[in-house]
Amino acid sequence: MPRFHTAHVTDIRRETDDAVVISLAPNSGDFSFTPGQYLTFRRDFGGVELRRCYSICSTASEGLKIGVKAVDGGSFSNCANQNISVGDAIEVMEPMGTFGEKLGENNLGFAGGSGITPLLSIIKSILAENQNTSFTLVYANRSVASTMFRTELQDLKDIYMERFYVIHMLEDNAQDIDLFAGRLDSEKLENLFQG
Ligand SMILES: Cc1cc2nc3c(=O)[nH]c(=O)nc-3n(C[C@H](O)[C@H](O)[C@H](O)COP(=O)(O)OP(=O)(O)OC[C@H]3O[C@@H](n4cnc5c(N)ncnc54)[C@H](O)[C@@H]3O)c2cc1C
Repeated sequence: MPRFHTAHVTDIRRETDDAVVISLAPNSGDFSFTPGQYLTFRRDFGGVELRRCYSICSTASEGLKIGVKAVDGGSFSNCANQNISVGDAIEVMEPMGTFGEKLGENNLGFAGGSGITPLLSIIKSILAENQNTSFTLVYANRSVASTMFRTELQDLKDIYMERFYVIHMLEDNAQDIDLFAGRLDSEKLENLFQG
């Protein structure tokens, strides 16, 4: 039966203006995870208990990290971005989920905004663990500034030049090529696949 454990916040890194990466050290429980899994958190907001899920964005060797993007008017995500500090105790369940279990050698993934978190864990893990794997990521965001893990993805591209490809789609039209600007829709996908 899943239950909550206490974890301490060991690090908080600001990733973008509206997103943080939080490192956690659980005091008990089995927090070993497979890339793609998520954690469920519980917190009291003025007498109301809220539960929210956040995907693990790290690899096993990096420890337990989540990336939280603030949602306008959202309770938990704004609390994580503004009110949580290093040393705080937080209640969290052991990792769950099966996303990412069925990976092959050549993989294609799509992410929008904070949806990058489980894919980042998967991409870093499979590229490091298996030299025969490749990953192409199509990553949609509003703007360059709001793109989570932009630098880390660039670094991965440099490390795995022939096995990792990122196509950034930017809604604010900051891309020179029309295909990569604006919202990702079926027509753009069709053109991407043809390319
Ligand atoms: C498996 C899984 C993994 C996830 N992983 C991540 C991740 O890695 N990173 C990440 O950032 N997010 C992730 N999420 C999303 C995350 O769980 C939260 O849904 C998100 O952070 C918003 O939660 P919140 O408490 O901040 O917002 P909420 O308080 O739930 O509010 C969400 C929106 O609803 C509105 N709202 C709230 N109450 C009402 C009401 N009564 N009437 C009308 N509108 C209302 C709010 O204004 C806000 O715009 C994941 C979700 C799942 C299911």
